[in-house]
Amino acid sequence: MSVEFVRQAQAKGIKYFLISFTDLFGVVRSKLAPLSAMEDMIEEGAGFAGFAAHLDMTPAHPDMFAMPEIDRMIQLPWKPEVGWVPSDVHMDGKVVEHGPRATLKRVLETAESSGYSVMSGVEPEFFVLSPDGESLADPSDIRGKPCYDQQALMRRYDLISEICDAMLSLEWEPYQNDHEDANGQFEMNWGFSDALTTADRHTFFKIMVKSLAEKHGLRATFMPKPMPLLTGNGCHVHLSLWSRGGENQMKGQGELGLSELAYHCIGGLLSNARSVALITNPVVNSYKRINAPRTHSGATWSPNTVTYGGNNRTHMIRIPGDNRIEVRLADGAANPYLLQAAVAAASLDGIKSKADPGKRLDIDMYAESASAVDAPKLPLNMLDAIRLFEEAGMPREYFGEEFCTALAKLKNDEWNEYMRHFSAWERENALDI
Ligand SMILES: [Mg+2]
Repeated sequence: MSVEFVRQAQAKGIKYFLISFTDLFGVVRSKLAPLSAMEDMIEEGAGFAGFAAHLDMTPAHPDMFAMPEIDRMIQLPWKPEVGWVPSDVHMDGKVVEHGPRATLKRVLETAESSGYSVMSGVEPEFFVLSPDGESLADPSDIRGKPCYDQQALMRRYDLISEICDAMLSLEWEPYQNDHEDANGQFEMNWGFSDALTTADRHTFFKIMVKSLAEKHGLRATFMPKPMPLLTGNGCHVHLSLWSRGGENQMKGQGELGLSELAYHCIGGLLSNARSVALITNPVVNSYKRINAPRTHSGATWSPNTVTYGGNNRTHMIRIPGDNRIEVRLADGAANPYLLQAAVAAASLDGIKSKADPGKRLDIDMYAESASAVDAPKLPLNMLDAIRLFEEAGMPREYFGEEFCTALAKLKNDEWNEYMRHFSAWERENALDI
């Protein structure tokens, strides 16, 4: 271990390192290592039993090692003696191909080899609940249209400002925080960056929000639809592709100031949306957000069909300006690494096939969807999404066979586990048949 590394860690007051990897279901797994052990950890990695996480491994597999990417360490602002270090997982001296972070890197390398840097920002929404997760933490947050409610936002000032202060100290360039469209729901925004940095930050943001909520005696959740009649937790992605020279390639002479390339990206995102919904909307509960009936506030703010519009939030893709596109499909359960991989891969596929997105729809999809008869429907449930993912060619081409086999296997297992669960609804509707 270099003397310089130890000196820097000591100067920052770091005593421990969380060597972390994110599994296929987005769960962050870590070992907490003291500074004195970091020489070995940096060289050999932190050891894990892969089967114990959501990865396609058995108990008989050898040790898996998380190789810390120490240059990307984030010091915990609320516990500065700890540094969080994202890692890729290795086994038998090779990277595990179905590791989510490694999968994103492969997709980004494909983009780079075509001459594009993928830049993105995310908008993760979350609810603040009571510690048992059963109810909203703020009993006064009852307004029918609670979005941007200043009183409700300021009742959470201590938590929101602490998270924002943390992002300021990390130099993420946070720029706004608000109360969102559901009672108890918030969103915090920070600057965009390259897709791997955004994925690391998105992962850390979720850790940070949950940790600081706990510190305040609360519970934060990114669950897609934690409250049946309220707007769910989306996770919109703002995407742009840049040339190696650092020029945004989305700007151009086409409709709404976008380039031909941007429209190919939109075409690819539309044609592949159903195939990657398993990644953007990965859990059983996800489909209760994208296929939800009207909520208390009047809108779900989530798509249920595969369409695009201009600056219009009722479509799966929105064009908010001439420099980027917004993909509104994903929800809070999406694995931050796979989310970026899916959006990037679908866009690259659109560029490769010169996909034509057709004419944008300038209609209110919540009120006039009947007129968009040809618009493909998003999957109705997770099993639909698994089947669409398994049948599609694009994921195999961009994510690799090993990744696709692993994800489909684990998701089929999860669906089967869900089907073994008996609900009160089933009894109510079938007991007296
Ligand atoms: Mg929002």
